[in-house]
Amino acid sequence: RYDGPSAAEILRKRSEFLSPSMFYFYKKPLNIVDGKMQYLFDEDGRRYLDAFGGIATICCGHCHPEVIEAIINQMKRLQHSTVLYLNHAIADFAEALASKLPGDLKVVFFTNSGTEANELALMIARLYTGCHDIISLRNAYHGNAAGTMGATAQCNWKFNVIQSGVHHALNPDQYRGIFGSDGEKYAKDVQEIIDFGTSGRVAGFISEAIQGVGGILELAPGYLPSVYNSIKKAGGLCIADEVQAGFARTGSHFWGFEAHGVVPDIVTMAKGIGNGIPIGAVVTTPEIAQVLTRRSYFNTFGGNPVCTAGGHAVLKVLEKEKLQENALVVGSYLKDGLMALKEKHENMGVLVGKGGFYGNVFRITPPLCFSKEDSDFFVDAMDIALSKL
Ligand code: PMP
Repeated sequence: RYDGPSAAEILRKRSEFLSPSMFYFYKKPLNIVDGKMQYLFDEDGRRYLDAFGGIATICCGHCHPEVIEAIINQMKRLQHSTVLYLNHAIADFAEALASKLPGDLKVVFFTNSGTEANELALMIARLYTGCHDIISLRNAYHGNAAGTMGATAQCNWKFNVIQSGVHHALNPDQYRGIFGSDGEKYAKDVQEIIDFGTSGRVAGFISEAIQGVGGILELAPGYLPSVYNSIKKAGGLCIADEVQAGFARTGSHFWGFEAHGVVPDIVTMAKGIGNGIPIGAVVTTPEIAQVLTRRSYFNTFGGNPVCTAGGHAVLKVLEKEKLQENALVVGSYLKDGLMALKEKHENMGVLVGKGGFYGNVFRITPPLCFSKEDSDFFVDAMDIALSKL
């Protein structure tokens, strides 16, 4: 039962007291008041199957009891800024997170968002290399602060303010790209940017393995190994933005980059790692991490006890409930169902959130506890909706 303000009342307050830049999804905005695992409930108690997961932020399910318990227990005991005192939550979560990463990627710096994580990653690359030039992909989204807006490459997310030192490479887009799925051909563009657009030395390269905001585009195979090679030769660092693709979501791997056989120098993450609470992280090697000791680097709430206790609980739930495996099994099953619909509805790009530069993509990023029954229901719902178009 919900006794709070109605959707109309909230809309009135929003229009008067909140930034006009805030937008919402769906023509008739929903007043969602409760969440339970893969379901959301509106003010009238109507249940919705959540196939968007708050833009891939819900990882192990809305209000997962074990995550909530960890957050509440820590909150009752102590919430604080990160600096000043020792706290076990941040240390425990860092250790657990590092165990999920390959190679020398063992040092964690926590932030409050994906933007902050990517800002920090870009700065680290610049400091470590002594270079300013960064290469990112066209159609990319990496955040909305000065550096990350520079690395973002879609005009609708870019304001007309200074965003210096970023070159945008040809997107290895297997769907619309000029070289189809030939990753190595697209990779040549990065080498050319290095050769003709920089001093020959660069700070680094940043990309997702699957562009999220960009429209769930999987980078062409062969692209990342070739680009990482060029970047390394030019003295740069390779940054993997795992804000959407990481944390078991792809099912086949824990991190998106793993499907490409590369090991980045820096990995950034946010969204799903907190299952809805604000936390992000940058993970790098001990050697690279040293650059931040040149000055004092400080983030009041990055890695605070409550968020790290929550994040750690998310990781435990992922493992305990084998959600990566579930994502693989149910994800493949859902994809098959949607592929069959594609046959029926000509020209309907597969794949619920709207996304991609052209707004032509259904972004389906459900919580990882989605079941086969949910998938069946979802496909049926899509079928009905598409039939009405
Ligand atoms: N990187 C990627 C890939 C993202 O999708 C987003 C958010 N959509 C960000 C970074 C920025 O994260 P945040 O909104 O938490 O700042």
